[in-house]
Amino acid sequence: MKILTAPYIFTPLGFKENQAIVFDKKIIEIGTHQTLEKKYPNAIVTTLPKNSVIYPGFINTHVHLEFSSNKTTLNYGAFVPWLESIIANREVLANNSKAMQEGCKEMLHSGITTFGAVSSYGLDLDVCRTSPQRVVFFNECIGSNPEIIEVLFNDFLLRVDTCESAKSDMLIPAIAIHSPYALHPNIIKKCIALAKERNYPISAHFLESPAEKEWLTAHSGPFKKFFENFLGVSKPVTTIEQFLSHFKDTPTHFIHACEASYDELLILQEGSHSIGHCPRSNKLLGCKRLEIENIQIPWTLATDGKSSNWSLNIFDELRAALMLHPTDDIKELAYRLMGSITHQAADILGVSCGKIKPDMSADFAIVTLPKAPQNPADIALWTILHTNNATQVYIQGERYV
Ligand SMILES: [Zn+2]
Repeated sequence: MKILTAPYIFTPLGFKENQAIVFDKKIIEIGTHQTLEKKYPNAIVTTLPKNSVIYPGFINTHVHLEFSSNKTTLNYGAFVPWLESIIANREVLANNSKAMQEGCKEMLHSGITTFGAVSSYGLDLDVCRTSPQRVVFFNECIGSNPEIIEVLFNDFLLRVDTCESAKSDMLIPAIAIHSPYALHPNIIKKCIALAKERNYPISAHFLESPAEKEWLTAHSGPFKKFFENFLGVSKPVTTIEQFLSHFKDTPTHFIHACEASYDELLILQEGSHSIGHCPRSNKLLGCKRLEIENIQIPWTLATDGKSSNWSLNIFDELRAALMLHPTDDIKELAYRLMGSITHQAADILGVSCGKIKPDMSADFAIVTLPKAPQNPADIALWTILHTNNATQVYIQGERYV
């Protein structure tokens, strides 16, 4: 049993001062260090450095590890040219285990103890299985051409079953539906049925780019040429409404939603869905800003993959979000952002972590501020502005950083 004691602890109800946490693999109790040390005399006590804050381990709900080796290869600025560069370079970029391991390490050092990995080919399974972090492994399904969807679906099922056989409390199988434009409705139905049957979390890219919106609503724009060239089709396989109707009774983590209209957001709200918000990725691929100030449904901040970002460090993403979004109250925005990568993300992925309360996994990201905060209410803001990496990181009670 261990005790961590720090000047500040981040709980779903705000920052608490001068508290300690007693834990083994799970959090046992929170209280003053005097009380806990008396009650648990054999526990190993660690007093954290001055001005330290204990956060629950951070959760990055959306990352593509398979493309971790990209630095200067892909074409940024607009979505369809970027997609074409992915297709042209996937053989070179994917399947670089060393780059994937480095990506996991980068996340770990920034305090990420759980992540949602979208796996297109299953090449990241071993890296995820052996990484210290908890991974929600989103096996991605793709296929819009009715003539080959059976083959694609069977390949997807094989990947899901391989993942299922590696399942543990640190590797959670899940399903990702690529996007409205890349999946035939029949295959979406099959994916959702499978997710329901096995109780898998589910995620889907949704209305990321202006090109996607134009293709789905007007059957024109850059995607028209793309689909004519690659698949010989000139009409999308679905409409936005039809796509969303599949998820009516299945709370889903929709990624991006930059182009979602008021009515579409309302459908997401009514379906108890959530949004994964990746501001740096959106900016680099020429997508709109997600107007988080107008969104009533739960959302998380996520890094996306290095295929559309320069780092997987959550503090880089937090700073970008803080600078990007207009706000009357920057302290409130900072506080919401920290909530989005902890308790909010945990509720969305259905994992027993992300909150400092008894019975949750003892996952912690400890941040040390350069000076004492004048006002505890400002800690989230100081954390985002002054942190590049966590000082210490614990997962299931074990220290990894
Ligand atoms: Zn993605």
